[in-house]
Amino acid sequence: MTAAQHAPDWLLDDGLAPDVNHDPLAPLYDGSARGELVLPFCGSCGRPLDLEQPVCDGCGSFECVWRAVEPAGTVHSATVMHRAEPGLVHADAPYPIIDVELTSGHRLIMTTLESTMLPPTIGAPVRIAFRILGGVAIPAAQPTAPSETEATS
Ligand SMILES: [Zn+2]
Repeated sequence: MTAAQHAPDWLLDDGLAPDVNHDPLAPLYDGSARGELVLPFCGSCGRPLDLEQPVCDGCGSFECVWRAVEPAGTVHSATVMHRAEPGLVHADAPYPIIDVELTSGHRLIMTTLESTMLPPTIGAPVRIAFRILGGVAIPAAQPTAPSETEATS
């Protein structure tokens, strides 16, 4: 499985990698590089925040703290992208985009760790792994096999 991390990303061109040092999501990318899923929480009341959400819906605080969360969740919704972008998107077949509801309470949009045309079933458990795009680790969903669920729970 680790060999795939050094191969070019299955989906996107390396040129689309985020500029980690000048990105408000730098804590996410720094965590991903360590193999951790790091997401924002309200620094005052602890509510999970959306990426780039400046103000807490719960208490109005502008404080934001980034913490590692469990890299696991379920599929809230999934769609299949049919739009081709030659030169930018390497996939030559439709690919799934998944809205994952994480156990931390966050929602995160991502695609799959490996190329597939089949979107996961809504409600299916997923683990969050990381694709490597131009040297930058970004979260990607990996369907959890039933046997893995039994082994880890
Ligand atoms: Zn708050």
